[in-house]
Amino acid sequence: MTLAQALDELVTANRILAREGVVDSFGHVSIRHPERPDRYVLSRARAPECIEIDDLMEFALDSTPIAAAGSKPYTERFIHGAVYDARPEVKAVVHHHSPSVIPFGITGVSLSPVMHMCAGIGARVPTWDSRARFGDTNLLVTNAAMASDLAGALGARPAILMRGHGCVVAGASLREVVFNSIYLQLNADLQMKATALGDVTFLTDGEIAAVLRTRGSFTYERAWEFWCRRAGRPYDARAIDG
Ligand SMILES: [Zn+2]
Repeated sequence: MTLAQALDELVTANRILAREGVVDSFGHVSIRHPERPDRYVLSRARAPECIEIDDLMEFALDSTPIAAAGSKPYTERFIHGAVYDARPEVKAVVHHHSPSVIPFGITGVSLSPVMHMCAGIGARVPTWDSRARFGDTNLLVTNAAMASDLAGALGARPAILMRGHGCVVAGASLREVVFNSIYLQLNADLQMKATALGDVTFLTDGEIAAVLRTRGSFTYERAWEFWCRRAGRPYDARAIDG
């Protein structure tokens, strides 16, 4: 994939996440720079629905903007830099505040896959509480120390909740993190409904492993094409990014 294609896909990812209700005026998605693994690309501070290609900025992994002068970056960009720094295999990161996931981060009720499409969120999504190490803050991850602590709690997992705030989803491709972000939100909705009905039977670790073992890139492509259509963005099948 060329850099131009990757940037265009990042705009599309922003529009998809907005269209699917995962992000609203807030929340963001980034990619590791396809030609410079020591950098990542993230929009300037703007609502995802409004983002254009000219809004995209490059950052070093310590989240310093590469261009000294320029647009105002997201104050929470440190989340992205810390995850890329800790996880060389990660190529894309989403941070969002989906209202569906918030209840799980503030009650101690574990969020776990309840259906096959949601297996990619991880067997048990942990929760990071900023107060444990940083005390009373405005809950935003606005410095490297908080972001590093969050990335450490995420570990090798695909997703983590943030108490009273939102979540982070990390993965090997932009399509994968958008897919898992949307299905993390759906899983939260489904688990909440099911809990109201009675005891919930979750996918077993073996079932989760079997789903992921048999999931090919076609699954992500099929979903991406559908979401592109709904978001009014062109679908580029050549831009498969793993
Ligand atoms: Zn946030």
